[in-house]
Amino acid sequence: MKNFQCDFHLESDKLISVKTDREYKNPVVQLKRSSSLLRQLLQSLKLNYLVEASVIFINPEFTLYRAPMDLPIILPTQVNRFFNDLNKTPSKLNDGHKKLAQKLISLHQTKNPFTTLPKYFYEQQKKGVYCKICMSFEVSIKNNEFVCEKCGCHEKIEEAIFRHTKELMLLFPERKITTQSIYEWCNVDLNRRTFSRALKKHFTAFGVTSDTYYK
Ligand SMILES: [Zn+2]
Repeated sequence: MKNFQCDFHLESDKLISVKTDREYKNPVVQLKRSSSLLRQLLQSLKLNYLVEASVIFINPEFTLYRAPMDLPIILPTQVNRFFNDLNKTPSKLNDGHKKLAQKLISLHQTKNPFTTLPKYFYEQQKKGVYCKICMSFEVSIKNNEFVCEKCGCHEKIEEAIFRHTKELMLLFPERKITTQSIYEWCNVDLNRRTFSRALKKHFTAFGVTSDTYYK
């Protein structure tokens, strides 16, 4: 599925925007690669299914000049007919289809294995409250709100504490969320009770009074 807008033309294997003359990744090339990979996967699973792949351009504002008729492309004016034809094809789902669906779901990867995160440590991180819009640490407190000195953006204290707590959880999932840890992380001149109030509102408290932590 592609949501390209405006006018494009095909120049042999190149997809080019008429307006900017910029070249874009040709989806037919992407399609060939992914359908070949899917076929190989099915073969390795010993599942014998026919794979018919098409690029579907869904945006009604899309035009493709010089599109050869033999390319596996469904243009916006053909999408309705394409689905109608699909729906008209008689079919019955059997156990084999369910097995295939379950297999594909079990192989689905939600995390990109190629992402590598830089190493970072708690001690190295700058502690403090920063603006949610421009990321500046130059914020001051006025009437129960943080006000950014740079861009003028306002944020309720409680919401800013919630935002910074979620960030601490994401960066350091092994650290316990306590009033003290958030007090340290936000490093701002506020009463500890303000922190525990915000935590109580957005998270569930566990443990006894002197040792309360939040999740
Ligand atoms: Zn700002």
